[in-house]
Amino acid sequence: MPNAAVVRSIEDFYKIADEYLSPQQVAFVRSAYELAAQAHAVQVRKSGEPYIIHPIGVAGILASLKLDDKTLAAAFLHDVVEDTDYTLDDIKQRFGTDVANLVDGVTKLGKIAYVSKEDRQIESYRKMFLAMAKDIRVVMIKLADRLHNMRTMSYMPAHKQQSISRETLEIYAPLAHRLGIYAIKWELEDLAFRYLEPEVYYELAEQVKVRRAQLESMVNEAMDTLRQALQAANIKCEIQGRPKNFYSLHKKMVRDHKQLGEIYDLLAIRVLVDTVKDCYGALGIVHSMWRPIPGRFKDYVAVPKSNMYQSLHTTVLSGAGQPLEIQIRTFEMHRISEYGIAAHWRYKESGSKPAQGADKDFDAKLSWLRQLLEWHRDMNDSRDFVDSVKTDIFADEVFVFTPRGDIIDLPVNSVPIDFAYRIHTDVGNHCVGAKVNGRIVPLDLPLSNGDIVEVITSKQSSGPSRDWINICGSSDTRNKIRSWFKKERREENIAEGREMLEREVKHLGYNSKELCTAERMKEVAEKLRLDTEDNLLAALGYGGVVLKTVITKLIESYKAAQQKEQTKNLSEILAELKPRKSKANASHGILVKGEEGILVKLARCCNPIPGDPVVGYITRGSGISVHRADCPNVLGNNGNDSDRMIEVSWDVGLDAVYKVNIIIDSQDRTGLMSDLMNIVSEAKLNIFSLTCHTDKNRHAHTHMGVDITGLEQLEYVMNRIRRIKGVFSVERESITGGKSR
Ligand code: MN
Repeated sequence: MPNAAVVRSIEDFYKIADEYLSPQQVAFVRSAYELAAQAHAVQVRKSGEPYIIHPIGVAGILASLKLDDKTLAAAFLHDVVEDTDYTLDDIKQRFGTDVANLVDGVTKLGKIAYVSKEDRQIESYRKMFLAMAKDIRVVMIKLADRLHNMRTMSYMPAHKQQSISRETLEIYAPLAHRLGIYAIKWELEDLAFRYLEPEVYYELAEQVKVRRAQLESMVNEAMDTLRQALQAANIKCEIQGRPKNFYSLHKKMVRDHKQLGEIYDLLAIRVLVDTVKDCYGALGIVHSMWRPIPGRFKDYVAVPKSNMYQSLHTTVLSGAGQPLEIQIRTFEMHRISEYGIAAHWRYKESGSKPAQGADKDFDAKLSWLRQLLEWHRDMNDSRDFVDSVKTDIFADEVFVFTPRGDIIDLPVNSVPIDFAYRIHTDVGNHCVGAKVNGRIVPLDLPLSNGDIVEVITSKQSSGPSRDWINICGSSDTRNKIRSWFKKERREENIAEGREMLEREVKHLGYNSKELCTAERMKEVAEKLRLDTEDNLLAALGYGGVVLKTVITKLIESYKAAQQKEQTKNLSEILAELKPRKSKANASHGILVKGEEGILVKLARCCNPIPGDPVVGYITRGSGISVHRADCPNVLGNNGNDSDRMIEVSWDVGLDAVYKVNIIIDSQDRTGLMSDLMNIVSEAKLNIFSLTCHTDKNRHAHTHMGVDITGLEQLEYVMNRIRRIKGVFSVERESITGGKSR
């Protein structure tokens, strides 16, 4: 690629401009030149030449890139506001807003202080550069300005040459590269290289001169041979020599620890063809003509690089026995490799290292820019140039300075609090105020590109304020503030969390005592993996959980519980509709092998009541009969029929009653029956039979049948009866026809 034009006189400039600008446009540019010439009239450069030489040189570089009339006018005027009595308003009135904005942008970019050499910092610097230039043409003027200054730097003091060259190599050349302006990039690199390492530069230049001379005829010969062979094979092609600039050659030698003689692609050949088929066709011809060097063939056509780069690379031994690198690709692949989404610069700059994720967006954003530039360069008529090309590629970032001059990039809408936390979490936690550009500002002031930000801290600070969570512009900051509250203020967080919760619960029309029961809070806390109610409240307090999430879960649980309550009520109602007695009647409160509701009979022979040890006996034909465990009727069967015995137990409801006969022997005295009846009625027993007869010894024998709920009640009643005056004995009628015990 040819270098940008070297233009030393206004006449030379017009020669280039006349080629692609209309007469009106040239006239417009001329009036800008005339103002500049007049404004700078008294100034001279270090070389002693009139100052206007510089704007002419800058405009000339831009004209050779075929930039539009406004850019050229601004190029002429770019130092006027800074160095002369003319103001931005003067320029606006005479040349319009666009030109004035371009001049203003170039002036502002000139004020960015270049300080650090750290790689990451340089990346931020470049980004800031692009971000601050609202119009990409500003960057192009700046690049042309820098190129011309580099070209005419010989009169500068040595230390200035060094620092300007370093800045050029670290900032401007990579910018030119990213914008696809290779002509400017390579020249900037080689100029800077020459100033920074003159001995290395001149030695390499000499070596390359010798080497190229050695190689040139070989390469030219090879190109001719190849061109003929491809034509003979009917493959339409364009063959280019591809010289490397000194600086990239130097970088490659240093990086790969190689001597110049070991650099195969000092002069490489690039073959551009129409189709993929032609790529392989051409490759076949190349390999049939020259012997390929093993291990040097790479097929990036079949397997493109991740940055979309496609090409066939091979190195062959040329006729003269010299290695010769040949790259074969289609015109389309060539275009994509230069301007595609993953830009060619990455491949060249970082070798085979994969592109870093964070920069992918950047590449994507730049690709349209590169294509636009290329499209513009191809246009012969620059009137069609979109004259408001914006570089809002970093619309989501803001770049500010520390007082020491380090660049900090923050998300757009960041405030001094974000800046403080970015410096260090402790600085953020102890921040009590901030200065921007030397003035005290509120902590919620949005920062702008280029602001110098200073944080005021105090050891007495009691920590961040809760409001900051809403004020700050980055989620990073928010997390740091939250984690401070989480750690430092547990009690306060719990109280704050409870208050937040209760306020919102009330607001939603719920009763917080009903909704936020300890049980339910615990349940929600567990769902959110916070384990306890306190943790949950604390998390609410410092913002670790969202209030809405907690409320939603509480209400969900509350509604589920309500529904369950309703369902339960229904089943109870149904149960009550069933006659409860029937169950008791059928099973007499007996569980058979632990199961209820099985039909049993209570044996008439021993009339068991609840509390009595009982056994079941499976009868032939009439189910299970239940006997007292000591009933002789079952005891007698024990030997033979043990397999018909079954385990039974009592499970008695309050309302079940059992029939028992009580036998009372006593004196036959007046009032005894009345005493007996008092006890019976006090115990609320129902008497179902009562017989009494007196023998010849004036002893009374009373048989009383009562309904009893169980053994306990029976024994209570019998003990009471025993204490009646004149009673000898009270027995429970046991086995039919006899007495137990
Ligand atoms: Mn300048």
